Amino acid sequence: MPKSYVKEARNKKVAPKRERVRPVIARLAVEHADAKIALTFANPLELLISVMLSAQTTDVNVNRVTEKLFLKYRRPEDYLAVPQEELERDIFATGFYRQKAKSLRGAMQRIVDVHGGEVPTDFDDLLKLPGVARKTANVVSAERGSAQGVVVDTHVRRLSQRLAFTRQEDPVKIERDLIRLVPREDWARFPHLLIWHGRRICDARRPRCEECPLALDLCPSSRV
Ligand code: SF4
Repeated sequence: MPKSYVKEARNKKVAPKRERVRPVIARLAVEHADAKIALTFANPLELLISVMLSAQTTDVNVNRVTEKLFLKYRRPEDYLAVPQEELERDIFATGFYRQKAKSLRGAMQRIVDVHGGEVPTDFDDLLKLPGVARKTANVVSAERGSAQGVVVDTHVRRLSQRLAFTRQEDPVKIERDLIRLVPREDWARFPHLLIWHGRRICDARRPRCEECPLALDLCPSSRV
């Protein structure tokens, strides 16, 4: 189980979360006006592949691999036309390459067989692709303009706990809390804002509260 940040949210008395969520989003949107997905892609297929490859590695690492990968593999059929070992070599640097190659080929096979070679737009159809879990389907849907939930990664988990938007530890339960709390029109940008805030200011070990626009009145974990 990853470290919990739930108890940190006792440092400071703040308003109830329903009153804080919109100001939190507004201030983070000013602070991180450039917050967006860090993966590089040019179409829904490249988006899906990038997100699938990003499990257990950094976006920078994925971008380095896909820069060459997407020149060689342009259609779903291309991933099926090479031996599995060749695809494994091409994605090796993203880690867990055997499982990822298997998942990619399974997903591409279903996209060819069931969806006429196009990445499905329906959330449940995305979830039926081999190797595509809720987080991947959420990222893909959000980037295509129809967020169906709130992406929960390690930063979103930590910041949601520190901001007392959730007391849960499990990502599925955290997402359930966030869906109830965050206005639907913000489902897509909310995780990006927390992710960038987590990377730049609200560090896991040493949050820089003195630089944080939420510190004085919106964050119960504030150390200032
Ligand atoms: S950096 Fe900001 S969001 Fe993180 S704990 Fe400090 S005040 Fe809260």
